[in-house]
Amino acid sequence: GLTSRLQNVFGKLRGKGKVSEDDVNEAMREVRLALLEADVNFKVVKDFIAKVKERAIGQEVMKSFTPGMVVVDIVNKEMTELMGGTQSKLAKASKPPTVIMMAGLQGAGKTTTSGKLARLLQKSNHKPLLVAGDIYRPAAIKQLQVLGEQIKVPVFSLGDKTSPVEIARQAMQQAKENGNDYVIIDTAGRLHIDEALMEELKQIHEVTKPDEVLLVVDAMTGQDAVNVAQSFHEQLELTGVVLTKLDGDTRGGAALSVKAVTGRPIKFAAMGEKIDALEPFHPDRMASRILGMGDMLSLIEKAQSGIDADKAAEMERKMRNAEFTFEDFLDQMAQVRKLGPLDQIFDMLPGMGKMKGMKDIKVDEKQVNRVEAIVRSMTIEEKQKPELLNHSRRKRIAAGSGTSIAEVNRLIKQFDEMRKMMKQFSSMMGPKGPKGGMK
Ligand code: GDP
Ligand code: MG
Repeated sequence: GLTSRLQNVFGKLRGKGKVSEDDVNEAMREVRLALLEADVNFKVVKDFIAKVKERAIGQEVMKSFTPGMVVVDIVNKEMTELMGGTQSKLAKASKPPTVIMMAGLQGAGKTTTSGKLARLLQKSNHKPLLVAGDIYRPAAIKQLQVLGEQIKVPVFSLGDKTSPVEIARQAMQQAKENGNDYVIIDTAGRLHIDEALMEELKQIHEVTKPDEVLLVVDAMTGQDAVNVAQSFHEQLELTGVVLTKLDGDTRGGAALSVKAVTGRPIKFAAMGEKIDALEPFHPDRMASRILGMGDMLSLIEKAQSGIDADKAAEMERKMRNAEFTFEDFLDQMAQVRKLGPLDQIFDMLPGMGKMKGMKDIKVDEKQVNRVEAIVRSMTIEEKQKPELLNHSRRKRIAAGSGTSIAEVNRLIKQFDEMRKMMKQFSSMMGPKGPKGGMK
């Protein structure tokens, strides 16, 4: 995938004490190929590479002690810029309700995302109204109603005999009467863009005057997704994009191109079928994810909302200072397990993506139990100073945990790897975090 290819390129650079212009050119050739292969728009790639090169060949890289890191940093920043720079918030109507209209091809995830968005808004104490505006797809109304019931958000529907434009009009009325401060309009999609669909969307737009027109885009479709975005944008004034199915095997192309092509920011990212699997899109986090640095920031934020804030802060500090011990590991594991499916969580940890890619390691609960057993069989001293773990200690731990020496060795190796990644990550982030040290 894109991440592993980029990691290879940067790995080569990192191995060098000094980086020449040729090295940078060579690396950029490889980055370019990796991006094209990941289905990033051709023009976007061209501009991107030009920008990175310009900065990389300048003073900063050549003079640096860690040129490879500087290049990664530049790529990271330019990628972040490419995806919009900063997080782009939902617009808000000066006079409620704020109207959000969903658009996109069939199967992109409009209905699901409508439900998820209602959920997010509800969580921050808003009173959304969902509007069943897809009268064509069999069961589309029912689908939205089920979602609404699940989260106790009202769904406005007039069945499938009234036109979506009329439904939208009456929904606005209802929202005003019932004091809903957000109206989320689910609309129909087609397999391809067509005239009749666009006409209908334009009319819904006309009667509801939405504050947001969000194009829902399936990230798995890569370049096609971006073309779709462009045609929608030409017809209907989009205000933002929601990328869905980022939990799947996306190549990263859509995320990296859609902002540049449409000029509209990605506002949300959906990473799963569950109702809670929608998050505000953070360009910087996506960039570091693509670069394989792990989405540590997301994890920390999630941790802070889900678990003990003090613990989360301590965890962050330790990660930054690479003071992470097996004890922390165990502790973190316990905390993390409260957060949700391990696969998702592991993806966010630096180095973990790589570990998961190793064939013999699958993130399943049983495996994690064994890992826990191993760590629990260590002495306090060993947990704090993994370098103490010589052969005889490993043997004792394997026996104590009912595992094998091979397993113990593997875990220690992974742990070392993780610590290395964290160290790398924290040196990139600088002592004061992203704003402090990264220049
Ligand atoms: P619509 O036709 O645009 O309304 O698309 P739907 O909301 O009906 O979604 C189509 C399919 O994609 C459904 O099976 C959803 O569960 C699935 N889906 C939507 N968003 C996501 C996502 O973020 N991740 C995954 N894995 N599946 C998703
Ligand atoms: Mg739908």
